[in-house]
Order: sequence, then C-alpha cells, then structure tokens
Amino acid sequence: MTYTVRAPAKINLHLGVGAPREDGFHPLLTVYQAVGICDDVTVSRSAGWSLGVTVPDWIDPDLVPDPGDNIVDRAARLLADHHGIEATAEVSIAKSIPMAGGMAGGSADAAAALVALDRLWGVETSDDDLLRIAAELGSDVPFALLGGTALGTGRGELVERVRDDGTWWWVAVVDPEGMSTPAVYRHFDELNPDADPEPPRADDLLEAIDTGDLDLLAASLRNDLQEAAFDLRPSLSDVIDRGERAGALRGLVSGSGPTCVFLAESADSAREVAAQLTGDGHDVVLVTHGPVAGAHVVTYV
Ligand code: ATP
Repeated sequence: MTYTVRAPAKINLHLGVGAPREDGFHPLLTVYQAVGICDDVTVSRSAGWSLGVTVPDWIDPDLVPDPGDNIVDRAARLLADHHGIEATAEVSIAKSIPMAGGMAGGSADAAAALVALDRLWGVETSDDDLLRIAAELGSDVPFALLGGTALGTGRGELVERVRDDGTWWWVAVVDPEGMSTPAVYRHFDELNPDADPEPPRADDLLEAIDTGDLDLLAASLRNDLQEAAFDLRPSLSDVIDRGERAGALRGLVSGSGPTCVFLAESADSAREVAAQLTGDGHDVVLVTHGPVAGAHVVTYV
C-alpha cells in the first residue's frame, strides 16, 4: 500500500503575541489560514525506515535537514511510540512550501506524515490523540491537520475552526534566505520588554471573515512579529512597499518571515501584482488562495 497525503502552508492573518510565559513560549492569539501551496508526503510499506526529500529548483537542497533530523522522523517516532509499534516505512517528501519561510512547511510535513502513517500502519488514531501528538511536534502542526481558517490560542496549538465562506487571493514573495523563528521571537522580546501577557485580540479581522468584507480584512491584517523581522532583514519593508504599489490591497510578513504575503482583490489582480514583483527582480513569486483543506489523503494505491 502507498499513501500520498497533502498538507498546506499557512498564513497568519492576525498574529498577536504576548509576553513570554514561564515555559519560555509566547502566548499567541492568531488567525491561521491554510493556502494552496502544499507539500506531499508519500509513504509505503518497508522493513526499515527511510526518508527522502525532493525540492523544486528554487529551494536550496542544502536547507533540507539530514536524515534523522527531519520533523517527519520525529512525527513517525511519536506516532509509533503512542501505539507501541516500530516505525517502519519508506517515506518521501515533495516540498513546495518555502523552507524556513514563516509558512510552517515543516509543520505541514509533520501533519501529512501523521495522517499518512496512521493509514499505512492501520492504527486508527483518534482525532484527539492525533491533535495531541501534533501539538507535541510543534505549535503549528495541529493547524496543518485542521486547515481552513482557524483561531489559534495557547502557543498556537489550540485550534478552533472559524467559518470562512470567502476565497481570498494571495501573492507570496519568497526570500532565498530563510530566517530563524526563535531569533525573530528573541528580537520581539528586545523590542517589546513591556509586552502585555495577554496577546492582542482579532475582533475586526474575525468580523471581516464572517461578513466576507475584503477591505476590512485588508485593514485588519496584523503581525506583531513584523517589526522584529524588518529589523533583522531591512529589505523586507521594501518588498512590502513594492507589492502595495503594484496594486495589492495590503502586504505583511508571513509569521516570523521572511516570506511576504499580499492580499489581492481577485485572482487576476493577484497575477498582475505577481507579474510586477517578478519584473522587479523577485525570482520566486507564487499566486495562491485560501482557505484550503488541512492534511488529507490525495492518492492511495
Ligand atoms: P514556522 O513558521 O513553523 O516557524 P517556517 O516556515 O519558518 O516554520 P520550516 O520550513 O517549517 O520553517 O522549517 C523550520 C526549520 O525546521 C528548518 O530550518 C529546518 O531545519 C527544520 N525542518 C525539519 N524538518 C523539516 C521539513 N520537513 N521541512 C522543512 N524544514 C524542516
């Protein structure tokens, strides 16, 4: 049996960050949206464990962690331990989500691997257990299972679906050099020594989604990590300016960056903005839309 599971990248439409908790994590109030840039994880039966990764020509293969260090190795071990079985499979990851780009590509791979291996091993993990294992793997992994649009609280791992009947068009400008999420959070702390323990709410943004109000959505996009990301990579603020001048309704840094995402009025407008940004010299500019489904089986043979 072979299963391929697809899992989406995420954008944080709102990333409200509070002062660090005692365990070092930052309390978040975030609104996630899954977008149509996806990684595929394929698993088949094997006597041992092997993991391969393929990347498109615009992803540097050197960024891919060595075998043993991939989040998919950890996902397999946790799921196997939960069921008291051995982790055996031949696994391949086909990446399309930018690496270390603030779009949670590793988290998507972990979520896809959990779903694929659960099927391959026939262990029928309950949704609650799958979400718990996902949360152990990383704050964004539960959302990669759920997909759609969702409210994330805690450190982002407590997810609750948000009704979203819209189709929102996005342009993503990928930076060839990734950024470290912990470094961005550390700089956030330096810039915000008096941050409120309670992360900022997202009332206007949630209303925009509920009512399908594109202008209100554009006006209420928010990323509390953006200032820190700009400080660490000043070129990002030019990228945002260029995208907005090219006709995007609003641009913002995705998560901890450095990918910049732009909300566009329509599919056509997104393509025009992307063409202008490509003309400006950005090599990797992707047009996508959300919300899309979380990790799901696309083929089994
Ligand atoms: P986040 O927004 O969740 O912090 P990100 O999108 O910035 O994540 P990822 O691509 O998820 O970044 O990768 C973060 C780090 O995780 C990488 O630098 C890499 O070393 C490690 N990693 C482990 N497994 C994977 C994987 N399958 N895909 C990508 N990165 C992985």
